[in-house]
Amino acid sequence: MPIATTNPATGQVLKSYDPMSAEQIDAAIERADLAYRQLRGTTIAQRERWLTAAADLLEAERDETARLMTTEMGKTYAAAKAEVTKCATACRFYAAKAAEFLADEPADATAVKATRAFVRYQPIGPVLAVMPWNFPLWQVMRFAAPALMAGNTGLLKHASNVPQTALLLEDLFRRAGFPEGAFTTLLVGSAEVDRVLSDPRVRAATLTGSEGAGRSIAQIAGRELKKTVLELGGSDPFVVMPSADLDRAAEVATTARCQNNGQSCIAAKRFIVHADVFDAFAEKFAARMSALRVGDPMDPDTDVGPLASEGGRDEIHAQVRDAVDRGATVLCGGEPPAGPGWFYPPTVVTDLRPEMRMWSEEVFGPVAGLYRVSSYDEAIEVANGTAFGLGSNAWTRDPEEQERFATDLDAGNVFVNGMTTSYPELPFGGVKNSGYGRELSALGMREFCNTKTVWVGEGAATAGAGAHAE
Ligand code: NAP
Repeated sequence: MPIATTNPATGQVLKSYDPMSAEQIDAAIERADLAYRQLRGTTIAQRERWLTAAADLLEAERDETARLMTTEMGKTYAAAKAEVTKCATACRFYAAKAAEFLADEPADATAVKATRAFVRYQPIGPVLAVMPWNFPLWQVMRFAAPALMAGNTGLLKHASNVPQTALLLEDLFRRAGFPEGAFTTLLVGSAEVDRVLSDPRVRAATLTGSEGAGRSIAQIAGRELKKTVLELGGSDPFVVMPSADLDRAAEVATTARCQNNGQSCIAAKRFIVHADVFDAFAEKFAARMSALRVGDPMDPDTDVGPLASEGGRDEIHAQVRDAVDRGATVLCGGEPPAGPGWFYPPTVVTDLRPEMRMWSEEVFGPVAGLYRVSSYDEAIEVANGTAFGLGSNAWTRDPEEQERFATDLDAGNVFVNGMTTSYPELPFGGVKNSGYGRELSALGMREFCNTKTVWVGEGAATAGAGAHAE
């Protein structure tokens, strides 16, 4: 894949980059390692000042940054501005919370025959971050902010279609004051990931991306015995039960499916509706989906911009065609418009069956699958009947059902009467083929820490050390 900015609204290539050479990659890893040695010796207060400066820069430069993201991957300008603001918020969150999240945790010293015992969280070194284009700033920031605050350094291999946003991130952390090499963008293709992750100076990797990329990175990391966090795809269920507020559910369903032009791992993708309210919900949902305006992502009246790549657009159209050819019904959309740009209309498909691709595959665009079920148990069976387990949504005003959904949905998160969203305050991640490990919250920060047990005895002849070695 070329490393280049191509405007998805026009198909025009705007800027291309030569990939870094093996020598340049090696030099970048060396700088990351040196910067780690420096960063781990700084205080949390110092790193807090740098990360706060990054938040200030993000806010001051919000509009230019947002314009760049829209040009590189097609999200609406409004959504891009919101993404920049969210990144600044995450920086401030980790700047403020790091002292609490990294504080020594006392243990019961008596129980372990110590005078003092505690857990200390320490950085581990340079971490490779392999990131996707769909939230080109946010996906990186939710790794970078906690990792840098913990004293790690970052090596970013961003998606090949967002090189300018990738370079902007390196520049941002440098201007914020972090030491040279603390955060470095590697302009490389995915074939170079093996070289970087195999390097002994690189201590771990985080990937946000597809299942295929996850398997590949996990294999390399397994061979090299390195820790990974994998945030992979999803095919999130959005269950609507008879007691739900149908108007609100249809409104949120539309946003949940079409946010980011339908290209979000936590977009609701499968709408599982109880038969008692199926027809009413389907009508409201299809009407709202059809009413969305598709067009120039810079236009403030646009709801849905282009897909990020021609291949991505062709793939979702092939998934829809496969379903239709095997007997599915299209309630709205289903045909890409003529003309330049990789646009696709919001689409609702029903009468889906297990042999259709849409039943089991992730659909990464504004296409909703609508499923009719006749009971709570069948809703759970369809919702969990996927290889993925990232987010999930359930709409019901019945308190007992709310509790059951929270337990029974097999996913990394359950949002009841809302849509799945990431917050710095809450852990984020999946189960099954959606990956493992968690980002955000204290857990996200500690994924790339050495959770070190410290045991202190009296130092006298009767001390417990070694009494029960294991
Ligand atoms: P992708 O093809 O997996 O690309 C993601 C990143 O991985 C890019 O930097 C890509 O580099 C790299 N990559 C691809 N194949 C690789 C390999 N075999 N070895 C090493 N690196 C590799 O995914 P995408 O199509 O850009 O993004 C969409 C996918 O990401 C969807 O499945 C979506 O659900 C998932 N996603 C998950 C989350 C989450 O938090 N769970 C969030 C957002 C997106 P190149 O660009 O150079 O190919």
